[in-house]
Amino acid sequence: MAVKKGDEYIASLKDLHLEANIMGEKVKDLPEHPLVAPSVRAVAATFDCAHDPEGRKLLRTQSSLSGEEINRFTHLHQSTEDLINKVLMQRYCGNATACCFQRCVGMDAANAVFSVTYECDQEHGTDYHQRFREYWTRVQSEDLVVDGAMTDPKGDRGKRPAELKDPDLYLRVVERRKDGVVVRGAKLHQTGMLNSHELIVMPTMAMRKGEEDWAICFALPTNTKGISYIYGRQSADTRKMEDPQFDVGNLRFGGQEVMTVFEDVFVPNERIFLDGEVDQSGKLVERFAAYHRQSYGGCKVGVGDVLIGATALIARMNGVENATHVRDKLVEMIHLNETLFSAGIACSALGHETPAGNWEIDMLLANVCKLNVTRFPYEIARLATDIAGGLLGTMPSAKELDDPVTGAHIRKYLAAAEGYDVVDRMRVLRFIENIVVGAGAVAYLIESVHGAGPPAAQRIMIGRQGDIEGKVKLAKRLIGIA
Ligand code: SF4
Repeated sequence: MAVKKGDEYIASLKDLHLEANIMGEKVKDLPEHPLVAPSVRAVAATFDCAHDPEGRKLLRTQSSLSGEEINRFTHLHQSTEDLINKVLMQRYCGNATACCFQRCVGMDAANAVFSVTYECDQEHGTDYHQRFREYWTRVQSEDLVVDGAMTDPKGDRGKRPAELKDPDLYLRVVERRKDGVVVRGAKLHQTGMLNSHELIVMPTMAMRKGEEDWAICFALPTNTKGISYIYGRQSADTRKMEDPQFDVGNLRFGGQEVMTVFEDVFVPNERIFLDGEVDQSGKLVERFAAYHRQSYGGCKVGVGDVLIGATALIARMNGVENATHVRDKLVEMIHLNETLFSAGIACSALGHETPAGNWEIDMLLANVCKLNVTRFPYEIARLATDIAGGLLGTMPSAKELDDPVTGAHIRKYLAAAEGYDVVDRMRVLRFIENIVVGAGAVAYLIESVHGAGPPAAQRIMIGRQGDIEGKVKLAKRLIGIA
């Protein structure tokens, strides 16, 4: 079963019997819950896309570990072509769902852990790499969804983990046994965790000597005893529970984020990929972050395409599509979106092979890509809001349409341009609202700033990778300064 279909994935997810707290209640049948179901369907799309005629060209590839045909979401990149295809695949899936389809975090974690475990073994004589190869071969052959978990709560950010009153604010090893370790802590903002079969935990930052207990990387099934989940809210999320549903905007798909708590959870040795090698932790963080910064050059662009399309549609429905300023704003939206895509492709095209044999993006350009992502979706959303008009924020509920009096008023006074249906116009406005200020804005805007690290983290990396000294030398040579 190397390339599952969406319904097979959903059946396998149900078999895990995951539970979570959602809005103060323990929920058992998660995939059926109205807040969760759209996010399950979005992940299922990453399976179904591998079976549609267009998508299969992007989403299927050959495993470097087993030689089997696999879904690219589990692939260890083998060339710059693979890195480019990853970005194209993410744009494709963003087009198909207009939301976060959640599955890239595990792919990005795997590619980082693969190369770092190899280098760690070379330097420390450990055997993490072989463990990880065996683990990931199973992930590929069973076409599993894996969540990558990096962000610790941290508490007082001015203090190192060992200086905190509560050292659990960074996930840590609390006990070492012959057959494994026991960990305690939490990981925040976990995208798609409840739709995953497995999770890979990584340190949240470069650890130093004396911080060995926090330099831990491991994998576990998501239904492991001692792991619990608290569901995150999204703006306007309860619209997913309403009937009729079109006020939700995105009718079928949505994202998901949870807080994941580890209460003295046992991790067996064969699932540990770093334990105390503090010098490797920073490298792991940087590589995972860079892969995910590349990812945004695909997924956010895919959502941007749909938002631009919906904005052009509402301009037509409002009868303003030929206004010069509207056309110019649409061109600006396309320009910004394609600029994001360009950086995603560029950091892939300039990728290189790691000593472990998988391929890594150009770090500088991946960080430039993500820094642009912290800004451009906001400007695209602002332009969409501008073109859509104020009704985006004031439109009555879809429920009113069933009322003989208010429904008639709405149909009369919210009339669209000739040739367009008033209710269709309302649906397009709700769709735009979902992405610019509703539940979809979590992924398209807030996550664009903070996902894979906030802008300050990209600036630090750009400063480090930007080779200012090299540029000074270039200038000096031409100016004639020794
Ligand atoms: Fe994938 Fe984008 Fe969601 Fe990250 S934010 S998991 S890259 S879709």
